[in-house]
Amino acid sequence: MSQRKFLIVVDMQNDFIDGSLGTKEAQAIVPAVAARIRECREASWAVIATLDTHEENYLDTREGRFLPVRHCIRNTEGWRIREEIREALGDSAVLVEKPTFGSVRLPAILREMNGGEDPAAIELIGLCTDICVVSNALLLKAAFPETDFSVRRDCCAGVTPDKHEAALETMRSCQVSVL
Ligand SMILES: [Zn+2]
Repeated sequence: MSQRKFLIVVDMQNDFIDGSLGTKEAQAIVPAVAARIRECREASWAVIATLDTHEENYLDTREGRFLPVRHCIRNTEGWRIREEIREALGDSAVLVEKPTFGSVRLPAILREMNGGEDPAAIELIGLCTDICVVSNALLLKAAFPETDFSVRRDCCAGVTPDKHEAALETMRSCQVSVL
């Protein structure tokens, strides 16, 4: 099926919610994210969930030198997607591991899932607004200039509330609708 709509659920992993990089804002969006996933599945959108995925050598990586907090180490509890989100995703979601903020594999994955065509619409939700949500939004926007893009304010949280707002503003400047 071509011209499909895609929901990208970014990094709803325990470490970003109440683990080593958790925030109360991230905890607060869990029910809204789960509800939005269910809504999109009922509307037959394709759903992709990304997982920030680091190895044991995280602190020796460039990201680790700038952010020396171990998180999302493969196969740890902090790496796993939050249970309520996993339940909402069900068996049909495509999981994409990514070693850094944006996934350069995502555009090809979406295009292949869409029969070789550009998607009709892409909505992004998840964590963190000012790092991985904005990175993937702009990366996908570059790959799909004619696709309708949106991000859902109440289904994202930033490293801080101010950074969340700043990232939403940046995305709005880049013609991503903030819903
Ligand atoms: Zn990371």
